[in-house]
Amino acid sequence: MKQKGIFYLLKKSYFFAKENRKNFIFYVIGSILFCVVGAITPLFVAKELLAITGGLWEQLFMAALLVFGFEFLRAFLNFLNGKNSQRFFRNTLKNIQLKVAEEILKIKTEDFTKASSGYFIERISNDSSKIADIFKDLNTYITRIIVNVGILISIFILNIYVFILYCFFLTFLYFIQYQKNKAYQINDQIMREKRERATSLMTELVRGSMDIKVLNAEDAFLEEAEKRIVDLNEARYHMFDTNRLYRFLYDNAKNLLDFIFILLAITLIRNNLLSIATAVVVFNYRNQVMLTLDYVGNLMEKTREFTLSASRVFQIIDSDGISKESFGTKQKKKIAGDFSFQNVSFQYEKGIPVLKNVSFEIPKNHTVSFVGRSGAGKSTVFNLLAKLYEVEDGTIRIDGIDIKELDKDSLRGNISIISQSPYIFNMSIRENFKIVKKGVQDEEIIEACKAACLHDYIMSLPDGYDTLVGEGGITLSGGQRQRLAIARALIQKTEIILFDEATSALDNETQLQIQKAIENMKGEYTILIIAHRLSTIINSDKIILMDKGEIKGEGSHKELLKSNTLYQKLYALELEKEIH
Ligand code: ADP
Repeated sequence: MKQKGIFYLLKKSYFFAKENRKNFIFYVIGSILFCVVGAITPLFVAKELLAITGGLWEQLFMAALLVFGFEFLRAFLNFLNGKNSQRFFRNTLKNIQLKVAEEILKIKTEDFTKASSGYFIERISNDSSKIADIFKDLNTYITRIIVNVGILISIFILNIYVFILYCFFLTFLYFIQYQKNKAYQINDQIMREKRERATSLMTELVRGSMDIKVLNAEDAFLEEAEKRIVDLNEARYHMFDTNRLYRFLYDNAKNLLDFIFILLAITLIRNNLLSIATAVVVFNYRNQVMLTLDYVGNLMEKTREFTLSASRVFQIIDSDGISKESFGTKQKKKIAGDFSFQNVSFQYEKGIPVLKNVSFEIPKNHTVSFVGRSGAGKSTVFNLLAKLYEVEDGTIRIDGIDIKELDKDSLRGNISIISQSPYIFNMSIRENFKIVKKGVQDEEIIEACKAACLHDYIMSLPDGYDTLVGEGGITLSGGQRQRLAIARALIQKTEIILFDEATSALDNETQLQIQKAIENMKGEYTILIIAHRLSTIINSDKIILMDKGEIKGEGSHKELLKSNTLYQKLYALELEKEIH
């Protein structure tokens, strides 16, 4: 990934802040006011101080009053600006996060599966906030630096010797800060990588917790998690150690400044080159002046972090090295449901063909079963039809139109995939329907659930349709999840339904209900089933037998049983399984 320039990235980032232009303008005006007050008032204080004659107590009183007045005004403006900046920051962050989420959903399956979920989560959360932060940070540090420059000029007017002393220490502190930043950059890069590794594993752990348990792999997983967390912690400790060392040097340099200041002030006061009141005022501002370099350092650091995070986020938004799905422009709101594969060949990895010259036709409203050994390429047919992967050779047509030409809604809006273990969202059952179809009525949901043989079960739950299903639908059984996915497809009224029958042994009752749910859809939809059970095979209009990426037979159950030796073998195997 090539890192882009800061101004280019700022300009691009401002696009997300545009909607809040009003807040932004108020924010900038507030900051300018803050700068003016911050930089001009000390000058005024300095002039007033130099003009005060009177006795020592009177001078000290005036000095204290002026400093208090100035600080109060600054704090007040800061307070007013804070509220505005929060609103601006939050809205900008929301815009960026939504855009990243939108673009993540467009990423091609092959690129998406290559990256870890930690990679995407980091970009939506951490990196996006760094982009939104930059407007706040730039404003904060630039205004503070300007204010401090104003204070330094005031000190120059008040006393040149103190000014020289401060400038000397500023240079010294800058050197320490510079070294610290250099070390920080290296450590931060390492820490980010380690954090991404740890986050990824934790996401896997949460997502795959059931499988980890069943695999009895808790120890191995926890061991790996420990390794990654320890790794991350080591990077953190190293970073803290380095920071502590520089903090130690920095603090002591400041202590040394205090010591030298007192010596210098005594000498200057003795020689009538500095009044006590002025000494009090300039001493009061020493820490603030020394912070100038902290601010410069922070500004540099924040812009560096921003550049890194913005490059990562815009890599996703601008598809830099990441490919996005593309669709045609042809619109077909309602399709009939005929489709065909014509000489389709496909490979996931170069040199490993998965489908070889596959051709078949399926008329609308037919139910067709795909059978064949595991790895034969059955799921790949589904993946290509839903364009989760793009076909390389050959053509897939729906209602005679090449799917490459169809726009997204015409294609995906007409196809549902019910996988072996469908993902049910961690919401209530009702919300699971509402999220896939805006404005869906309760009656429609109930009707679909009845057709999917799920309504009675839902009604038996204490909260009925408002029952929460847990992450991924964990509180539902595999069969219930599949039936819910069937109901989801019915709600969407997609013409083509791709159903991947669960290989896992479902109890007879569940199997019967799923079977009944499919029976309810037959004749109205084009249904493709990856079949693992005899009952499904026998009832379908056509069976397509696949082996090693090729079609090895096509026809009704009876026809294949009569003439196809591979089918006979598979059927005998199935039969044996059913009996046992
Ligand atoms: P089936 O559904 O008949 O069991 P699949 O279509 O799932 O078979 O798989 C066909 C072949 O493609 C298998 O050898 C499998 O390993 C491979 N395959 C499936 N999905 C991917 C993927 N995302 N990346 C790489 N290879 C894959």
